[in-house]
Amino acid sequence: MDLPGGEDNLFDYVVVGGGSAGCVLAARLSQDPTLRVALLEAGGADTSVLIHCPAGLALMAKSKLDINWRFQTEPQPGLAGRRGYQPRGKVLGGSSSVNAMVYIRGQRQDYDAWAAAGNPGWSYDEVLPYFKRAEHNERGADAFHGSGGPLNVMDLRSPNRYSEVFVQAAVQAGLARNPDFNGAQQEGAGMYQVTHRNGERCSAAKAYLSPALGRPNLRVFTGSKATRILTDGRRACGVSFLQDGVERQVRARREVLLSAGAIQSPQLLMLSGIGPGAELQHHGIGVVHDLPGVGQALHDHPDVVQVMDAPRLKDFFGLSFSGAWRAVGAIRQWRQSRSGPLTTNFAEAGAFLRSSPAQPRPDLQLHFVIAKLLDHGRKTVLGHGYSCHVCLLDPASRGSISLASADPLAAPRIDPNFLGDPGDLQRLVEGFKRMREIIGQPALAALGARELAASAAARDDAAIAAFIRSHADTIYHPVGSCRMGPGSADVVDAELRVHGMQGLRVVDASVMPQIVAGNTNAPTIMIAEKAVDLLRSAAVMA
Ligand SMILES: Cc1cc2nc3c(=O)[nH]c(=O)nc-3n(C[C@H](O)[C@H](O)[C@H](O)COP(=O)(O)OP(=O)(O)OC[C@H]3O[C@@H](n4cnc5c(N)ncnc54)[C@H](O)[C@@H]3O)c2cc1C
Repeated sequence: MDLPGGEDNLFDYVVVGGGSAGCVLAARLSQDPTLRVALLEAGGADTSVLIHCPAGLALMAKSKLDINWRFQTEPQPGLAGRRGYQPRGKVLGGSSSVNAMVYIRGQRQDYDAWAAAGNPGWSYDEVLPYFKRAEHNERGADAFHGSGGPLNVMDLRSPNRYSEVFVQAAVQAGLARNPDFNGAQQEGAGMYQVTHRNGERCSAAKAYLSPALGRPNLRVFTGSKATRILTDGRRACGVSFLQDGVERQVRARREVLLSAGAIQSPQLLMLSGIGPGAELQHHGIGVVHDLPGVGQALHDHPDVVQVMDAPRLKDFFGLSFSGAWRAVGAIRQWRQSRSGPLTTNFAEAGAFLRSSPAQPRPDLQLHFVIAKLLDHGRKTVLGHGYSCHVCLLDPASRGSISLASADPLAAPRIDPNFLGDPGDLQRLVEGFKRMREIIGQPALAALGARELAASAAARDDAAIAAFIRSHADTIYHPVGSCRMGPGSADVVDAELRVHGMQGLRVVDASVMPQIVAGNTNAPTIMIAEKAVDLLRSAAVMA
């Protein structure tokens, strides 16, 4: 297929989406000066201080900054008919520029299950080197951790004193203290390590892309929304995108790499004629390749929050007269020394535990948050207090991404089907009770905080289930919508190549065959690091 434009719009690789995965791809591939790499990102540059100052996280949900897609889900029958919220980064760094910076990889069994599902090369022992390659852990290297990688991982500089109180309460409830959730054992309670460097957020853009920006062989197009993958028969040969309202195209000599995330990678495939044939025809889109699995198998960690009111404990973040006064000092401290309260990621401590002793491995995660959190931080809450999240790590429910229309500027239909499987609700009820038990232990009880009325009234299993249905939502980890696997319902193979297509891979969180037991940023970066090796060996073979 002939595309307009000369050498200037011809690249070896075109990466779509400058998020956690896309930044890794663009930076690593452009290390080879003989390759020309283009990165298309719908959002802009990551210039806002709210991104770089960790505590800016608290203001992002409410800010008017155009750095978040702010998607909504379809009404969820499992959530009492409510629509869920799906924030996603729309800026260089993608969701790693707006996330809570918790550094977690998941469990050995997650990756072993990926490999056992027909994905050679993805067992824990095989992916561990990529986690280590990505990482610079300030604690130093060991059997599980890397040193010298682009992604800075560290202990919080100025942890809130109550985070340690949470860990003590969890230990009082019978959990082991765990100093490293990414080491030999994940189970237990402890402080999270965070993706920070020098008291600032270390997003994938900061870690990977910024140091590569001066390379003459890397071209980053911001404000550039990909609208269609251009194909020549079943071969991807470029990408059409909108920049400042003008349609432009880039051509890919070798491959198009789709890294638009779990919501938009399947959407873009479908807009390009790659997906469930009948659905594409329904929207008047010509079918390039009937691939039924595109957009299916979406899943996410369902999560519910217990909020505690502690008006006199001013060391918790909160809106009050004295809180405002302290904020002035905190801003000064962060400006001067990149330390102090503004280095918080809010979800400072947590735990991994089992919903019942019969569970073979932890299936619940807690995030202890040093502020009162309502409605994803979109609701303004007065006063001080804390919150604790519990989420289910291995949900059985599966949902989907589908097209709402053929308009590339329209959001897709997002249906995570939260709690669609009754077993998910049951285990989340158990999780809620375990969380409450921890909050009731002497260490935390001594703070004298009061549970907010909405959950306080839920005392038996039926009432807790009703509370969960009326309050649960995502903890922002959608995956699986371009599932990796060998079957006819899968989208990419174990080398992340789209089944039935040439010159086209998906490299982002959407390829996870089964969600990992933990936060998804580090696993997505690992996937991209491994993809770089797969691309390099494919180029050698070609
Ligand atoms: C609020 C929030 C909190 C989170 N907290 C944590 C946490 O503490 N720890 C953790 O490990 N994980 C966390 N996560 C999850 C984690 O950040 C994501 O799983 C991860 O960043 C996903 O990476 P990705 O590359 O798949 O997608 P993204 O990072 O979302 O990147 C996709 C990129 O593609 C761009 N894009 C989309 N469509 C197009 C298009 N058509 N054309 C051009 N560009 C396009 C987007 O703008 C975006 O920049 C959180 C996520 C959110 C939203």
